[in-house]
Amino acid sequence: MHLGLREESYSMMSNSNMMNERDKTALVIGGSIAGLLAARVLCEQYDQVVIVERDILPNEPMNRMGTPQAFHPHAMLPSGTRILERLFPGFEDELLAHGAFCMPASQHGVFAVSTNYGDVDYQLSVRKVGASRALLEWVLRRRLQAIPNIRFLTGQDAIGLIFASNRDRVSGVRVRARGKLHQQQTLEADLVIDASGRSSQLPEWLQTAGYTVAEPERVKNELGYTTGYYRLPRSSARTGEIQIYARPSQGIAGGGLFPIENRTYIACQYLAGGEQYPPINAEGFTQGFAQLSSPLIAEALWGAELSTSLRGFRVPECTRQHYEQMELWPMGLLALGDAFCHFDPVYGQGMTAAAIGAEVLEQCLQEQQAHPQSDFERRTFQRLQERIEPAWWLSAISDLLWPGVEYTGPLSIDGMTLAQKCIALYQTRAVHAAASDEHNQNLFTAYMMMNALMISPREIINAPLIEALLKHDASKEGEKLREQIDKLTLGGQRSLAAILDEIIPTFAHAFGSAPKSPISSRSNNAIIRS
Ligand SMILES: Cc1cc2nc3c(=O)[nH]c(=O)nc-3n(C[C@H](O)[C@H](O)[C@H](O)COP(=O)(O)OP(=O)(O)OC[C@H]3O[C@@H](n4cnc5c(N)ncnc54)[C@H](O)[C@@H]3O)c2cc1C
Repeated sequence: MHLGLREESYSMMSNSNMMNERDKTALVIGGSIAGLLAARVLCEQYDQVVIVERDILPNEPMNRMGTPQAFHPHAMLPSGTRILERLFPGFEDELLAHGAFCMPASQHGVFAVSTNYGDVDYQLSVRKVGASRALLEWVLRRRLQAIPNIRFLTGQDAIGLIFASNRDRVSGVRVRARGKLHQQQTLEADLVIDASGRSSQLPEWLQTAGYTVAEPERVKNELGYTTGYYRLPRSSARTGEIQIYARPSQGIAGGGLFPIENRTYIACQYLAGGEQYPPINAEGFTQGFAQLSSPLIAEALWGAELSTSLRGFRVPECTRQHYEQMELWPMGLLALGDAFCHFDPVYGQGMTAAAIGAEVLEQCLQEQQAHPQSDFERRTFQRLQERIEPAWWLSAISDLLWPGVEYTGPLSIDGMTLAQKCIALYQTRAVHAAASDEHNQNLFTAYMMMNALMISPREIINAPLIEALLKHDASKEGEKLREQIDKLTLGGQRSLAAILDEIIPTFAHAFGSAPKSPISSRSNNAIIRS
């Protein structure tokens, strides 16, 4: 019989001295997405992997206190799904077996993009599975529970790190039974991974131990979310996912409708900048959908019944740690997932970034085993930064379109404003092409692939493409872009390509074996004219 996780965890705790002394142990703080994915990778390299989680983990797909964001829609980007399928073969089929909704390739996802050209009825090129975050996490957790060298210690709060005597190495973690002030224990480990999410206490723990922590990059976005669950009437046909882009300059909220298991839809609205938040009462929420830049969600919810109370979520800021820049960093310690970098959730990147983190960890551990090096931790952080750079950059440039959002960090403001204008022009052209001819979706597909972290933003923001887009363009977006290019190139004294190289990240390492973009520099002119 399968023991409850709680009993299993206590027997582990009391018998920790029974662990074979030669066992190589990795300890993960946090048993959510990043922690689970890290454990999956670690179990190949360590004799024993221990996941310390403050919640008692439910035996069914259920939301829990430690992940309050799980009530809100959680979509996985295709690049994240690819990694999950590799680490957990058949993962999507398992979601479907538990009632997740399948949007087959033939079904449309509808995107209402904020340009004069309106909605794009976009044909998905891959199968997409819609599931609640609770189901997704539960399926992953069950897979890990079946792996013999992974153990869950639940109901345990990690309250501090243990350092070796000269403080250059982390040798374990102090834990306390939840709600029991005096039940503290120490757990030793060769590698500790902080995957405790956006409330990570790692910066404070490091400071207490005498380390000078590098200043994180910040996007102060003051984001507000409101979410509710709807049941469709039995008779109504299910529709695919609908995403309505916000219009930040006009203060118009964005919204989404996501099909999940049990004929349920999760509907959400969001606003950034802190001026106002989406309504949290049923009447205001319903009206809010009618006021988005497209009525598509309001229409889809016609006759549907709100089956939960509404819940809000506030994200005051998004941060990206720069642990790789610290002069001193203890051996045996890493951070992954939201504990390392948390993004604006609107762009659905967080879980994919956690999956990318697991992949980076896997590669770095393999390299370390083949050729041990003393700076394993720093190299892992550097590789991770390179891989998540496009996600962070795209999220930052989009957030900065909202009045009131502020950024502190090393990214070039010129680069970000230029990119915003390029993307605005590109979006307009892509939506126009797709809306006027359903077979002309290449530009829009490339845009979606960039947002899905499948191709580099440089595929869209490069000199030949921008110049081709601007040729014969008389739109307002084109005018704004021309003005900025003139300013940056000093009226043509410098080439646009050289300016872009200077102010926009190259994203060189983020897209190792990237899929081919549907647009290419050579065919830009032809595509844009058609
Ligand atoms: C409103 C909202 C909507 C979102 N939508 C999406 C989306 O559509 N797509 C997407 O990819 N991402 C989305 N995200 C982001 C996503 O939720 C996170 O990126 C993801 O959960 C990160 O996983 P994590 O494991 O790093 O952290 P978390 O999921 O936050 O998990 C942290 C875990 O650590 C545990 N823990 C914390 N402290 C301790 C401690 N001291 N000791 C022991 N355990 C501890 C917690 O209980 C929890 O289980 C959204 C986020 C929000 C806020």
